[in-house]
Amino acid sequence: MPEVLVLVDLVDDGGARKVGKPALELLTIARRLGEPSAVVVGPPDADVAETLKRYGAARIYTVPDTDVSGYLVAPKAELLAQLVDRAGQEGGPAAVLLPSTGEGKEIAGRLAVKTGSGLITDAVDVTRDDDGTPMTTQSVFAGNFTVRAKVTRGTPVIAVKPNSATPEEAWAEGVVEEFTVTVPDAAKGARITASQPRQSSGRPELTEAAIVVSGGRGTGGDFEPVERFADQLGAAVGASRAAVDAGWYPHSCQVGQTGKTVSPQLYVAGGISGAIQHRAGMQTSKTIVAVNKDPEAPVFDLVDFGVVGDLHTVLPAATEQISAR
Ligand code: FAD
Repeated sequence: MPEVLVLVDLVDDGGARKVGKPALELLTIARRLGEPSAVVVGPPDADVAETLKRYGAARIYTVPDTDVSGYLVAPKAELLAQLVDRAGQEGGPAAVLLPSTGEGKEIAGRLAVKTGSGLITDAVDVTRDDDGTPMTTQSVFAGNFTVRAKVTRGTPVIAVKPNSATPEEAWAEGVVEEFTVTVPDAAKGARITASQPRQSSGRPELTEAAIVVSGGRGTGGDFEPVERFADQLGAAVGASRAAVDAGWYPHSCQVGQTGKTVSPQLYVAGGISGAIQHRAGMQTSKTIVAVNKDPEAPVFDLVDFGVVGDLHTVLPAATEQISAR
């Protein structure tokens, strides 16, 4: 089986390093294409290795971080390029998978240039085509078209949107191998001189959350029912641009064409009309629920379940029902 390289994003979990959910999704997708090899920057960590094995990593490359993690994206692209070249001597990997985040896409672009390969970003699905090569699905032009595409040159570099797959366990051997990358100073790019931990709301990251509850102009500026419902479900909170422009919620939480793209298992829209620019950021959600007091609201054309009613009544009632279980 061909090797599939997966760049693993580690997240800080109260001081400990943890494998982020997007990496578990990528390992699940990688198994459709071949044998996943996880690429982890930093010293080997037993808990991290255990998780990667549980989700099917046949091999784990650990990379001493002196040359890589103190910098932004350039050394990570170099690291992956060297792994592709090395594997190339034995037939080459079937693909390199990365998360389609800001950082992931920049690494992917640089890697594609370095290896002379085709690049696909924002994939929402990756399957194995009849000839064994990866076939991707993307949602483009504000979600008006679905594109199926494949790379025809080099090693396919594919950035996959978080929440595009459900992580599935499948134990694998997870042979750990240290891979040392040497990056010339001139190629290291920007060095990180200081970093500040992100202010945490205690809620999941919007683009990674399995459930997102969003509020729009219909909240009238009162996001409490939205937040309480979200907290009951362990969800992230999103907002429409109307709510953000009104100053009711931060721009970092805006969902849509000029905000973030989310693709959770469940998306709940409260007091959102369903404008095309909002849809662009959430229409690939697996299940969509809307609460809107206007039965003619366009959002109802899109939903799996719709509730016609006032969100200030419906959301607290739903919160109460769920908490009573
Ligand atoms: P509205 O369209 O005003 O809808 C409010 C809804 O709430 C209505 O359907 C109403 O029936 C309902 N409602 C009112 N009161 C209640 C209540 N008490 N209970 C239940 N329902 C109630 N928008 C985005 O969201 N994200 C983007 O990234 C984005 N990018 C854009 C980029 C461009 C270039 C442009 C031109 C626009 C963009 N927009 C974006 C704006 C978009 O066109 C809409 O204006 C915006 O999405 C509307 O937000 P809304 O649904 O909250 O408000």
